Amino acid sequence: MFLCAVSWQPPEKSTYVPTTVHSSFCSTKTSGLAITSLVLGIVSVVLLCVGPLFAIPAIICGHIAYARTRGSQGLLTGAGLALAGFITGYVSLGLCLLLLPIAIPNFIKGRDAAQRTVCVIHLKQIDDAKRSWALSQKKSDGEAVTAADISGYVKPDTFECPKGGVYQINPVGHRPTCSIPGHELKD
Ligand SMILES: [Zn+2]
Repeated sequence: MFLCAVSWQPPEKSTYVPTTVHSSFCSTKTSGLAITSLVLGIVSVVLLCVGPLFAIPAIICGHIAYARTRGSQGLLTGAGLALAGFITGYVSLGLCLLLLPIAIPNFIKGRDAAQRTVCVIHLKQIDDAKRSWALSQKKSDGEAVTAADISGYVKPDTFECPKGGVYQINPVGHRPTCSIPGHELKD
């Protein structure tokens, strides 16, 4: 036992990896910018409605990272990631441009419908206010009524069409109207 322990020598030099080889192996790393580009690219495709916010940085980072990895003589890897990053960025931008002609008219249509709904609510409130005022003032159909007459029955913003139309209060017994076509009080 004793002899064995004394005679054994650690074979340091033969088993250790030479320092120079070790360090050159470690200095090869993946470009962080390439990873960032790919992540941004994927996010830009997933969140397509806000895609350009992520697609443009993905394209810029991707191109920079791609150029850096190509010019690093093998010290920097991730050219594939950078390529995938800016390609997904371009795909997302392309999809946005394709969908824009569909999205914009739908957005306008939705906004118009919302404005019409609010306007009709205003017209209904003005109509109700006219009835209440006519009842309290003992006014009969056909008698003139002004905004000032019914101001105590409705909020001031009720006289504003959300699309900028002009209201005609009209006499008692007649429905109030808006100058915008389609903005009308129905039964
Ligand atoms: Zn209106």
